[in-house]
Amino acid sequence: MKYLSTRGHPERRHFCEILLEGLAPDGGLYLPEHYPQVDAATLSRWRSVFNGGAPGGYAALAFEVLSLYIDDIPAADLKALCDKTYTEAVYGTPQIVPLKMLEEGFWLEALSNGPTLAFKDMAMQLLGNLFEYELARRGEQLNILGATSGDTGSAAEYAMRGKRGVRVFMLSPHGRMSKFQQAQMFSLLDENIHNIAIEGVFDDCQDIVKNVSNDIDFKRLHKIGTVNSINWARLLAQVVYYFAGYFQATSTDDQRVSFTVPSGNFGNVCAGHVSRMMGLPIAQLVVATNENDVLDEFFRTGTYRVRASADTHETSSPSMDISKASNFERFVFDLLDRDGARVKALFGQQLGREGRFELGDDPVFEQAATRYGFVSGRSTHLNRLETIRDTFARFQMVIDTHTADGVKVAREHLQPGVPMIVLETALPIKFAETIVEALGRQPDRPPQFDGIENLPKRVKVMPADTAAVQAYITQHCAEP
Ligand SMILES: *Cc1c(COP(=O)(O)O)cnc(C)c1O
Repeated sequence: MKYLSTRGHPERRHFCEILLEGLAPDGGLYLPEHYPQVDAATLSRWRSVFNGGAPGGYAALAFEVLSLYIDDIPAADLKALCDKTYTEAVYGTPQIVPLKMLEEGFWLEALSNGPTLAFKDMAMQLLGNLFEYELARRGEQLNILGATSGDTGSAAEYAMRGKRGVRVFMLSPHGRMSKFQQAQMFSLLDENIHNIAIEGVFDDCQDIVKNVSNDIDFKRLHKIGTVNSINWARLLAQVVYYFAGYFQATSTDDQRVSFTVPSGNFGNVCAGHVSRMMGLPIAQLVVATNENDVLDEFFRTGTYRVRASADTHETSSPSMDISKASNFERFVFDLLDRDGARVKALFGQQLGREGRFELGDDPVFEQAATRYGFVSGRSTHLNRLETIRDTFARFQMVIDTHTADGVKVAREHLQPGVPMIVLETALPIKFAETIVEALGRQPDRPPQFDGIENLPKRVKVMPADTAAVQAYITQHCAEP
């Protein structure tokens, strides 16, 4: 299996060559040359491999899926990496991603039982093990530099902590994350994890990361890398739980299901698209957004319009507060029948110039729904509160704010006889303020997080100054 760029660059690369990289050389995103097809016999075999989520079933399924896309890691090693990643010890249940029934034909798929209680752990935990493996094989080191306002940074740190060959430098806006999120990140005392609290807002953190990445000499000398959501390995790891969700919601392989995905950067639902392209019987992929409705606007009208910072709302489902959807280019590439030149004109040129492009009048646009199964909807703060209350009143279940956006939009797209699976992307304890607003009570806290706010913390507070951050990295890279 080789990988190509969505912007038409002629080069083809293997999995491990793109594993540690971000964008393709022409600024595009990597996708496989083709989607391996899962025929009826394979689907049926995978159902028995997953084995209803019996111990080891998820890891074995992950190995099956990954094997189709990775041909430059020996099978025994890849199997060991999957086994090491997807364990009951890390995820708290043998199924790893158990389904919870709300009502007949309406399910939540629990993707938030990993160390940071959000779905990003599902991919990031694998990435940590893949990075360690590949860096050791090459005899190289990597310094991951990132900016976070919460979920991504902590998932990256919990995935990379204690890994040989990897250091993490994670910038966050000083004093602006929730107490729980600060405690989660800053209580990590591992030597290879560096929390840097920047005196500024999230955009300042992102600007520093951009400045450092544009300093080519510094970047090369200090082996700076990233783990952002455009990384193909992250997307690939997410494909596994679409299959695992399907097997749990159905008993035979001729049934179809739909998925609703609380979406921001389009990474999660793009893995659903890949699963569907492989032949998983998915009727609809329902994209749920919050007030930052870039994606809902596209799927309703065909207009893709990037928002300015001032038009990007701070909402109570903050991990979906995006101004543009960084993985969306992957879907548009498929929608345009993989016309790299056209994708390059849209994303590489028109978007930079005009901040928008329109496909609404193009005959291809209706295929987003008819051929690829995409529909969408949006949800607001009031919808979240109502949905959290309603779900608690009727099913005695407390759901987080992002999942609430999903449940709200899923109900607008139910089809008779087609089970609906809503991806639960975080646990409510991470967004306790809104739960209290909705229910007048604190969400349950998993016992391993008791008293986390009182643990010793390790964090370096610094001004919003690129040179200062570079000096800090230089100093700490020199350590053994
Ligand atoms: C990151 C995140 C999302 C959005 O996922 P995308 O892959 O960016 O679409 C939704 N919910 C939670 C809790 C998240 O952390």
